[in-house]
Amino acid sequence: MTSLLERKSAATGATAQSAPAAEIPALPAAAALNESLRSASPADVISVALRTVGRDRLALVSSFGTESAALLKVMADVDPAIPVIFLDTGWLFEETLTYRDTLIAALGLTDVRSIPPSEDALKGEDPDRELWHSDPDACCRIRKVEPLARALQPFDAWINGRKRFQGGLRADIPFVEDDGARLKFNPFANASRADIEAIYASAKLPPHPLIASGFLSVGCMPCTSRATANEDARAGRWRGRAKTECGIHTMKTS
Ligand code: SF4
Repeated sequence: MTSLLERKSAATGATAQSAPAAEIPALPAAAALNESLRSASPADVISVALRTVGRDRLALVSSFGTESAALLKVMADVDPAIPVIFLDTGWLFEETLTYRDTLIAALGLTDVRSIPPSEDALKGEDPDRELWHSDPDACCRIRKVEPLARALQPFDAWINGRKRFQGGLRADIPFVEDDGARLKFNPFANASRADIEAIYASAKLPPHPLIASGFLSVGCMPCTSRATANEDARAGRWRGRAKTECGIHTMKTS
């Protein structure tokens, strides 16, 4: 794939060996796009992403977790055929797989791609399925980060559902960033928890089945626990460890 950097350079003629600039339109800088979207709605952000790179070069990454339906609903209203990448780590709750299928049907999503880890990586690095315990960063790398990097290869930009109110490394995310290889759109960067709940209510979106069992945020089975109402929603993820992110938002995905 032509990298974002190469595409930018093609516009300025800085890399003459790159594909001709006339065939590959330059992408705008993330900072300029971010500035222009400061007052935009989540739907506007997705529409701009679509116009900027085109549907064939844009993907949305979703965990089909407890808040995922809101972003998928906004996306479906803009264009339900935008490719959706779902990382099927091999450790997901059956309820999450069912919820994926429920939302595909409810929202009319036409291009959801379930991406498994590499068989070679599983055999070589996690033959006993205990890597989540001994080295969770390595487990996330082979089950999430590397599969996402492969899945994003055809794309120049991706959309995700992080919000600033989730805190931690997410507290200062912009609407648009450059992840080193692609544009990365965060339509809900400025959304509040009430905004997300309002989308669920107005669209009558089905809740993730595990919310009723006390799970506020849902990831892989070994690394997800219930959280109390007084805790941060992500407190149940990797409980007891310093780890707060799987790596797909902190590592370069190319
Ligand atoms: S969240 Fe846990 S089980 Fe899932 S990939 Fe990461 S370490 Fe492995």
